This record gives sequence, C-alpha cells and structure tokens, in this order.
Amino acid sequence: MNNKNKKWFTLNLNSKYKQTSSSCGCGKTSGGCDSHKTKNELSENEFFEAAVDASIGEEKYKDGFDQVFDVKMDRRSAFKKLTASLLIGAGAMSSCTSVTSSDESKEKAQIDWEEQFKGNYKLMTDEEKEATVNRLVRSYQLRTGKTINISSKNAEEDVLFGYAFNISKCQGYMDCVSACVKENNQDRNSQMQYIRIHEMKDGKGFNFNEADDNYYHEVPAEGHFYMGTQCFHCDNPPCVEVCPVQATWREKDGLVVVDYDWCVGCRYCMAACPYDGRRFNWSKPEVPEEEINHNQHYLGNRMRKKGVMEKCTFCVQRSRSGKNPACVEACPTGARIFGNLLDPNSTIRWVLENKKVFRLKEDLGTEPKFWYFMD
Ligand code: SF4
Ligand code: SF4
Repeated sequence: MNNKNKKWFTLNLNSKYKQTSSSCGCGKTSGGCDSHKTKNELSENEFFEAAVDASIGEEKYKDGFDQVFDVKMDRRSAFKKLTASLLIGAGAMSSCTSVTSSDESKEKAQIDWEEQFKGNYKLMTDEEKEATVNRLVRSYQLRTGKTINISSKNAEEDVLFGYAFNISKCQGYMDCVSACVKENNQDRNSQMQYIRIHEMKDGKGFNFNEADDNYYHEVPAEGHFYMGTQCFHCDNPPCVEVCPVQATWREKDGLVVVDYDWCVGCRYCMAACPYDGRRFNWSKPEVPEEEINHNQHYLGNRMRKKGVMEKCTFCVQRSRSGKNPACVEACPTGARIFGNLLDPNSTIRWVLENKKVFRLKEDLGTEPKFWYFMD
C-alpha cells in the first residue's frame, strides 16, 4: 500500500454540550430550560429520567459480557417498570388537568399522556402511525421551538433490501462508522456505534476472537485486513423470536426494526443475536442540537429514550426514500454495496450472481441479508 493512501484514524465523536458560564443562554431567568429551576424542583426531563432510572435501577453501567448474559426480568424488575410507567402517566395527567398550566403546557402534557399509553407501532393502522408521528413532531416543536421531519413510510412492495461487503476493498478507515453515528443520532457520550470494523491478521482466517475492533493507529496496517459487521437483517432473526413484548420484528422489505417506545430493555434480543448486532443504551442519547439529523423515521434514527435497544436499520429513513445507507455513501473505497434484491438490474444482484459470496454462521439458519465477497 502506497503511504499516500494511508490514513490516521481520527474519529471525533465525543463532542458534547459544554456550558461555560452560569447563564445557559436561553435568555430567560425562569422556566424555559432546566438551569433556572429551584433547588428541589424536578424539571420535566429529570422527572422522566428518574422514572426511567427506576426501571433500570441498579442494572446501570454494566458492560459487554455482563450486559448480554446477566439479563434480569424478575417480578421485582417488572414491578419497577410498571411503577415507572404509572409515574410518568400520573405526571402527565396532573399537568394535563391543572387549572394553572398554560395552554402549551397542557398540550405537552396531553401529548406525553398519549405517548405513554400508545400501542405497539407494529399493530397500528397507517392513520394511527401518522398521528403518532405528528404527535412526536409537535412535541419536539413545543420543547425546542424547532421543526423535525419524522417519517412513518412503510415498506414498499417488491423491495427486499440486501447488503454486500467487499473485504478486499475495505482499508479500515471507519468513515462508515462516523457517518452512521451522525446519520442515526447516536449518543456521543457513550460513543455507541452500530458498525464494528474488525482488524484481522492476514493468513489467520476470519478470527473474530483475535480481531482488534478498537484500533487507533495508521490504517491499513501492514499484514492485516478489515471486515465490517453490523445488524445483518436476518430473514429468520433469533432476536425477534425471543422478544417478550414484540418490540422488534422483521418488516416486509427485510428490515429488522425496534419500536423504542415498546421495548422494555430486557436485552433478551442482544443475547440471542449471534452477530453482535444490537446495542443497548444505558443513558439517554445525547446529541448536540446543531448535530441532530432532523430527517428521521419512527423506526430508525428518531431520538430515543434511555434503556432501550438500538441497532442498524440499514438507515430506514434513507433506504425507504431510495437512498443508500449513510455507511455506503461514506465509504471512500466502494467496499459497501446496498440495494433491492428483487431488482434483477441492481448492483447487489450483480454481486451475488457474479462474485463468490458467503455469509457468517450460515449453519445457524438465520439467513442474514448481508454477504461478504472478495475481488
Ligand atoms: Fe437480529 Fe442479530 Fe440478525 Fe440483526 S444480525 S436481525 S440483531 S439476529
Ligand atoms: Fe424486545 Fe427490547 Fe427486550 Fe430486545 S430489549 S427483547 S427489543 S423488549
């Protein structure tokens, strides 16, 4: 590899809000933002945080192996979750009916109430989906004064999404990872990443146990090759099978999605996925306002609450609008191919028909929609 083509890896995703003075800059001396509240008063956000904290409880801040295998959902945890839900509902109800609240506060409370007790998105009619999305858009506007676009676009007929990854082209630059984080409004504090790029040693096969997924050196490294993984959108997804509340499912176009508001954070799906495709958020995703991607989909990159499961959705907000996922767009080497498997003229079909492709752990029968190939 020519040195000119080498690249220092500089993923700078740890940006976060910094408040440098005692004034928050909102221009108000009371109300408006959390910084003006009196000492013992919980802000609306803190109230919700506290309620969700009650549902996660002492399970917070576990990582890796512990997160996956130490899943608790006993009667006590279930009771806590129920209590948290009722607390949020009761809070919304009291503001909703208060004679002293402003019209805006009442509207906010009404939205919170309806949000808290809405049904599973999977079972909603198209009208209900639209009403849900409109409510979220209005809620965002009331809270921030800004507009946001949330789509509820369904899967189209005659579309089945598939993905192919060219191992010989990937140089380990991780531009795909950065693009994914930005596109999908992923938490900047925890540095959650849906995509992993595994650096592997030449001549050792696909050895994920010995691969380095957190390299911070010049790439491509001599004697190594690179392989990306993310959710593979299996046709027969074990993660879906184990969900106790049907918060995750496979859509008609092959996308495996999560209803963040229906997910109870039990992490059974994370344990069931054989490909490390799921990420649990232990804190509310924080994205600086100026970096928020305002083009969102309900099942994709809309802002999530804490304590729910996240994952790659093949950028549903883009793919259902006829665009490539952000990772495909960002890859400077063209290692990533995405398209409609049912379209005989698509590039993805050409790759599957003309290259020697393979999938990971074929023997499990999960039927991933993600293939690997080499030139
Ligand atoms: Fe589910 Fe994992 Fe398959 Fe994604 S890769 S669909 S998370 S089993
Ligand atoms: Fe279902 Fe959420 Fe539990 Fe996963 S973490 S199994 S999506 S409820």
